[in-house]
Formats: sequence, C-alpha cells, structure tokens
Amino acid sequence: MKLSRRDALKLSTSVALLGATSSFASTKKQPQKSNNLIFQNKKAPRVVVVGGGWSGLSLAKHIKLNAPQSEVILVEQKTEFVSCPMSNLWLVDKIDLEFLTHDFLEAARENNYTFCNGAATGVDKTNNILHTSLGDIEYDYLAFAPGIDYDYSFWSEDEDFARRIHQEYPPAFKPGSEHITLRNKILNFKGGNFIFTVPAGNYRCLPAPYERACMVADYFKQKGIKAKVILLDENNDITIKDHGFHTAFNKLYKDYIEYHPNSLIEEINLDEKRVVTEFEEFSFDDASFYPHVRGAKILEICGIAKDTIYNRLEADINQLTYEVNGYPNIYVSGDARPMGFSKSGNTSNTEAKYVAKLIAAKINKQKRPQWESPVTLCISLVSIAPERGIFIHSEYAYSQKTKQFSFATPVTNEIWQGESGERNAQSAYEWAKSLYADMFQK
Ligand SMILES: Cc1cc2nc3c(=O)[nH]c(=O)nc-3n(C[C@H](O)[C@H](O)[C@H](O)COP(=O)(O)OP(=O)(O)OC[C@H]3O[C@@H](n4cnc5c(N)ncnc54)[C@H](O)[C@@H]3O)c2cc1C
Repeated sequence: MKLSRRDALKLSTSVALLGATSSFASTKKQPQKSNNLIFQNKKAPRVVVVGGGWSGLSLAKHIKLNAPQSEVILVEQKTEFVSCPMSNLWLVDKIDLEFLTHDFLEAARENNYTFCNGAATGVDKTNNILHTSLGDIEYDYLAFAPGIDYDYSFWSEDEDFARRIHQEYPPAFKPGSEHITLRNKILNFKGGNFIFTVPAGNYRCLPAPYERACMVADYFKQKGIKAKVILLDENNDITIKDHGFHTAFNKLYKDYIEYHPNSLIEEINLDEKRVVTEFEEFSFDDASFYPHVRGAKILEICGIAKDTIYNRLEADINQLTYEVNGYPNIYVSGDARPMGFSKSGNTSNTEAKYVAKLIAAKINKQKRPQWESPVTLCISLVSIAPERGIFIHSEYAYSQKTKQFSFATPVTNEIWQGESGERNAQSAYEWAKSLYADMFQK
C-alpha cells in the first residue's frame, strides 16, 4: 500500500509523540510541590491521620506519645464526635445526647496534636501529599482511619434506589442525621410492623442490631404500643452472643420480636412498603434497612481498596504491619481494615495503639514492634427496665497456615437474668466513660 503525504505526516507525528512519551517516561519523576499547601512550615516528621473516630483519635494520641518530636495532624470532616457505642440507648430515650457527644478540639489540645476540620479528598502517593477540602497537606506518614460506608449493591445496582432507601429508612450505623431520623421514627411510632435488617459479611458491630431490637421492643412494651419488631437476618443465626439474645427474645419479647434468620432479601418495595425474602413476604409501617458494609469511599478514591472475603473495597494492606501494599509510609486501621476482626470501637481503639507504635518506630528509627492483638470487649444491653446486659471479651490468634485471624478463646457472660446481668449493664456505662476519657483526655 502506498502512503500519501498526509498519511506519512500523521505517522511521523505519532512516532515523534511516542518517542517523546517514552523519553519522558524514562526520566525520573521530580518531586512536585503543591501550590495549594496548608500547614507549610514542616519542621518535624509529620504524620497525617484521616478520620477522627475510635481508631483515628487513638492513633493521633499514641503517635504523639510514642514519638513526641513528631507533628501530628488529625483531619476529620465532622465538627464534633458522636459515639455509636451506647447510641442504641439514646434511640429509646434512655440517655442524653450529651453522654455520646465529645469535643475534637479538647482531644487535640490535651494530647498535643492539631485538629484540622476538613475532608480528605485524594492523595498524591508519589509526592506524599494529601488533598483535602481545605488545601493540600504534605506528609511523611499517612494513616487512614475512615471507618465504613454502606454497600447497597447487594439489593440493587440502581443509585436512585440507594439514595432513596438511605434517606427514608437509614441504617443508623454511622452517627449523625441517620440516628436522629431513626430515633424520631421509634419515638413517634404508633404501632404495626417495624422492620430491621442484619446484613451478611463482617458488618459494623455484630451484636448491635440484636441489641437495638431488644431496646426498641422494650420501649414499645413499656409504652404499651401494639407493635412488632421484625428482624430479618441474612445470616443463618444470631452472629454473636446468640444464647443471651435468643433467651432475651424468647423470655422478654415473645410478643414483640419476630426473628427471621436466613432472610436473604430479594426485593424491597419502598412505595408498597413490602420486603420480599427468598421464602416470605413482609409488609412494614416503618423500617431501618442495614445493608452490607464496605470500606469508606476515600480508600477507593485513593486507589488503596480491594475486595476481601468479607466485604467489598476494604483497605489493601499487609494484615500484620497495616502498611498499604506498595506504599509503606501509608497505613489503614479501624473498621476499614480487611481482617475479620470485630468491627467495634474497643477493637479499633486498641488496634490503633499498636499501629501508632509501628509508625513511631519508623520515626524513631527503631526495630518494628512485635504484632499485638487488638482486644474486642463489647457489652450489649438486653433490657432497659431493669437494665441488664451480656458481654464478650476476646483477643485474636493468627494462623500462619491459613493466613487468617480467628477469635482466641472468647470469654462471655450471656446470662442476663439476676445480678450479673445488672452488673454487666453498669459496666457498659463504665466502659464507655473510660474509653471516652482514653480518646479525649491526656
Ligand atoms: C449502633 C452501634 C452500636 C455500637 N456499639 C458498640 C459497642 O458497644 N462497643 C464497641 O466496641 N463498638 C460498638 N460499635 C462499633 C463502633 O462504633 C465502630 O466499630 C467504631 O466507630 C469504628 O471506629 P473507626 O475509627 O474505624 O470508624 P469511625 O468511628 O466511624 O470513624 C471514622 C471517622 O472518619 C471520618 N472520615 C471518613 N472519611 C473521611 C474523609 N474523607 N475525610 C475526613 N474524615 C473522614 C468520619 O467522619 C468518622 O468520624 C457500635 C456501632 C454502632 C453503629
């Protein structure tokens, strides 16, 4: 085939461009400075923590404790901290919002780090720059602790459906407006069917949906409201503290809670207020739908998320060192982790103390510390009057063979009848106060 002049010109341009690209690719990338920097005067090794929840607050405090010479900046999008643990009691008017609400500025003042009230929006991993809604922040080490997001794709790929179900029937497994909506629904409920769902996978706080069912049933019972709490569980049984919750459902709330295991939801019709599972159909007067969870979206945006055996798009990290694969100065901890640990506040808080040691060891040029297991300690209330609770306490073991973690000999007290149940309920308050103090005070 004969080439025309025009074709020859096109070809030579493409070849020249290709040459230009490959010679560009072969030159080493120069570090790029951002012209939108905030926190410009970096004088010490800097650690930026994204997310001021149970993990991030503990990370910021303990990095500073283990490497006092470092500069620590906590980037959090919310203006105040509202606790999910104990929030099931607030939903039924048992405690004040004040008990759950805490001050980020106090935590930063008391523990000598800087609170930056903005949202992380992306990262330049080559040049160590975090992009935020307030500007760019240079870092030496970056630690993400952004928690979870919801994954409605198991019910529908339709984004309008996801937006609508979230707005009308929020799960309330992240603090804020979702909790306020759910509390108003419960306190104003006139009677009928109130549906709650439990997702499969490693969802946030395994016992919380069952605790919530007990709290809401207890509230309806005490107020004499003719209502049924219908709990549609995708799992084949109660996922944790099953003896305690089963006995509470049967002995205390027989007329108020209908528990349906193996309830794989096939359709939720929001207009007709109907839920279709594999075997049954339920109508509802009100509801709160808890979908599957995934790692917080910022991880996906930053290109450090992957699907795991439990959930979609959790942190792509080394499970023992918490370093992001390919980027050893970036870490992820808390509920966004891919390990099968319980997604709980106590787990996130204790795990972050180990991750803080890992980061501090690098800053201090010390040997990497030995792996430490996070501690899961979780107390659930099963009744409000009198207050009675059940608990689980466990650490984890790592199997070299399966490369998986499992619970190491959990200790439970699932008998809520009698004094021990009342003592458990009291220790829930003491636990919460001590953890708030641990995160917000010196
Ligand atoms: C109803 C309920 C009851 C619970 N009960 C218990 C209990 O009794 N005991 C227990 O141990 N645990 C309990 N939990 C679980 C506990 O709340 C979570 O496991 C814990 O909050 C996880 O901590 P985290 O730091 O990983 O995430 P979070 O606490 O969710 O913190 C993540 C933070 O990151 C911020 N963030 C996310 N993206 C960005 C971004 N791009 N930029 C800036 N900031 C960002 C968020 O605003 C948030 O503040 C309960 C949870 C629920 C919902």
